Amino acid sequence: MIYLNGIFMPIEDARIPVLDRGFIFGDGVYEVIPVYSRKPFRLAEHLHRLQHSLDGIRLSNPHSDAEWSHLLGQLIAANASEDQYIYLHITRGVAKRDHAFPKNSTPTIFIMSNPLLTPPMESLITGVSAITANDNRWLRCDIKAISLLPNVLLRQMAVDVDAIETLLLRDGFLTEGAASNIFVVGSGVLLAPPKNHLMLPGITYDIVLELAETHHIPYEAREISEHEMRNAQELLLTSSTKEIMPITRLDNQPVGDGKPGIMFMQLYQLYQNYKITVMRGNS
Ligand code: PMP
Repeated sequence: MIYLNGIFMPIEDARIPVLDRGFIFGDGVYEVIPVYSRKPFRLAEHLHRLQHSLDGIRLSNPHSDAEWSHLLGQLIAANASEDQYIYLHITRGVAKRDHAFPKNSTPTIFIMSNPLLTPPMESLITGVSAITANDNRWLRCDIKAISLLPNVLLRQMAVDVDAIETLLLRDGFLTEGAASNIFVVGSGVLLAPPKNHLMLPGITYDIVLELAETHHIPYEAREISEHEMRNAQELLLTSSTKEIMPITRLDNQPVGDGKPGIMFMQLYQLYQNYKITVMRGNS
């Protein structure tokens, strides 16, 4: 079951007019929210980022946080899995094709939920491969915009060579992955690219830095050079659906000793424990 403009329906029945500005211009924003044991995880943070994205494209939020929460609860109940991931998408609505904003259009709201499958244990034990590419996206990567063509092309470059992700470099510095945030471990310190307009402020990124702070893991959020990335002891990938994964090969070279490292193992365990605490409602 999905939700489209006020109605719950099977996805096969969902229809969008061809003049929807999402279809014509990619004029919209989205969120992906993991759901564990039927509870949305870090919902307040996802809704806060949604507001930031909407503000970034000058579209007013069609719902209050309480209304979003109610809607998502209904959609979760209408779907079978205990663990799901919600895809929530808002466009500027249907209007005659013109780049400028329409005077009076009603935003299109589409929400779907799919079973959440976290990465297979094997990929956590051996680690995964990644490649690098020039970050050729726009300069508002902090907006979670539905216009993802550069990300699509960059991610496909990885898939073409059986890698899991493309790590992006802008002016010699690591920004993020095509659909994930990236952490570097050097000299035992966890390094995170700084949150700015060049990357999406990941919800999982924030959790990792909170866990580092709470558990006295040394970390720094600062610019990371290509040299530091290529000489890292460990590289970690984070996203709401992939959680934390170890990258053990970069551009066909081993990362560190080519095995998932101690920082990965520690953060992975802390993340799983944190999830359990939140799901029990003790956070
Ligand atoms: N950066 C990009 C470009 C992404 O698409 C994603 C995944 N949505 C992330 C980072 C990770 O963000 P989050 O931890 O909120 O899923």
